[in-house]
Amino acid sequence: MSVPEPAGGEEVKQAKEVEDAEKYSFMATVTKAPKKQIQFADDMQEFTKFPTKTGRRSLSRSISQSSTDSYSSAASYTDSSDDEVSPREKQQTNSKGSSNFCVKNIKQAEFGRREIEIAEQDMSALISLRKRAQGEKPLAGAKIVGCTHITAQTAVLIETLCALGAQCRWSACNIYSTQNEVAAALAEAGVAVFAWKGESEDDFWWCIDRCVNVDGWQANMILDDGGDLTHWVYKKYPNVFKKIRGIVEESVTGVHRLYQLSKAGKLCVPAMNVNDSVTKQKFDNLYCCRESILDGLKRTTDVMFGGKQVVVCGYGEVGKGCCAALKALGAIVYVTEIDPICALQACMDGFRVVKLSEVIRQVDVVITCTGNKNVVTREHLDRMKNSCIVCNMGHSNTEIDVTSLRTPELTWERVRSQVDHVIWPDGKRVVLLAEGRLLNLSCSTVPTFVLSITATTQALALIELYNAPEGRYKQDVYLLPKKMDEYVASLHLPSFDAHLTELTDDQAKYLGLNKNGPFKPNYYRY
Ligand code: NAD
Repeated sequence: MSVPEPAGGEEVKQAKEVEDAEKYSFMATVTKAPKKQIQFADDMQEFTKFPTKTGRRSLSRSISQSSTDSYSSAASYTDSSDDEVSPREKQQTNSKGSSNFCVKNIKQAEFGRREIEIAEQDMSALISLRKRAQGEKPLAGAKIVGCTHITAQTAVLIETLCALGAQCRWSACNIYSTQNEVAAALAEAGVAVFAWKGESEDDFWWCIDRCVNVDGWQANMILDDGGDLTHWVYKKYPNVFKKIRGIVEESVTGVHRLYQLSKAGKLCVPAMNVNDSVTKQKFDNLYCCRESILDGLKRTTDVMFGGKQVVVCGYGEVGKGCCAALKALGAIVYVTEIDPICALQACMDGFRVVKLSEVIRQVDVVITCTGNKNVVTREHLDRMKNSCIVCNMGHSNTEIDVTSLRTPELTWERVRSQVDHVIWPDGKRVVLLAEGRLLNLSCSTVPTFVLSITATTQALALIELYNAPEGRYKQDVYLLPKKMDEYVASLHLPSFDAHLTELTDDQAKYLGLNKNGPFKPNYYRY
């Protein structure tokens, strides 16, 4: 069946995927849908008709982020009265007497539940899927160990997976992005969650370990965002892979690691690359960042963008979203790129493409979104002007060389939660946000709707991998079939009252398409 997708540059095995998509019984029901516009409810009825075990398929997920106000994100880090006590030192139990979790404060559960309920309002496709499929329980017997941002939206995904029959143990993929109240609500609901905002590096790995290394419980699925969980299992518990049916990975970075493992012949289970699903990449990376970059910058710095000079490093999906938002507010935006195609796109979109060193003295804000490392070096930081704001929108904290700033001649002053002034001997201050970790998930919130799309894709990938008959997937990295991508999109159209046009028989023949999709070849770039 489908489609080991090349890590980069190689030819995509597109025809094979389209052909194989028909083998998904779940997708077959979608294909046969007689209606012009796929109705979510109707599709779900089709879903519940599946014969158990063999016929179940598709829904999967991804995640990320947020909620608002003072308790979430940036603020909850400082609000709690017992902040000084590490959650690892606390004895906590939920109302059912379980202590199978480690969160900041279980007493915040009620507030976290409200946050989750608010998120559910804008994740109607995922919720409908949960309602329709929970009788079928397509994840019955699944033991999912997850490592993602722990936010209200992720909680909706985790609870959907539980409703579909899975047992879940969860840790955070980022030390700052956990919404403590949401983690508490999950723990109160019985999910084994190990995460809090402001974990140390040691806490981070301890939480992952608590999810994997459990007496009497062994994971058979992995849902990862960034590859740290997968890495940990490879390093510490390779035997766990004997039971694992598959890995679902969301991020650019994690997917890159999976392809490296695959290339080295070390990938020992099938993996789904959710990041390169169109419904993830074009929406989570592009639209999500377009909407959240300004929020993160404003909450932390109160900066005004009109007329400000901003350099955005990387003009991929994330970079394009950031640039569009900044341009709309009247900022003067420069772009750096290593790829001539993306550089040309930036030019055509009206941005000056420069080397970072050419503009570093004059810019007011530096934003990295390359997924690379050492993009902003100590030399760049030395040359920045006073009050320059530096932040990262890429997954890892590798893009800005923050370590190089931890030297005796520089003074660090924490001026707000997630905001440090790094002060040079001559008095120059550089404003570093979230210590170089990804800004929007650390310091602001991200739009729920976009996360619903990713979450639905992740849920489909998990269900597909978990229910796939032996031999369908080898020890390789796969993309979800195009038809599933189209299906995820169709589930979200009713929110906009969008009306799809249906191909006539004649038009379908003319274009050589099935009237019910897939409508584009796998290599189509949207
Ligand atoms: P992408 O591959 O589409 O874009 C990255 C771009 O950076 C590419 O065009 C690449 O050519 C360019 N690049 C690489 N090294 C560079 C360098 N040294 N200087 C300048 N440009 C360079 O990836 P993407 O989807 O835009 O994701 C980028 C990062 O953002 C990843 O780490 C991803 O995990 C993360 N991400 C963050 C969020 C968020 O909410 N903050 C959402 C999605 C993805």
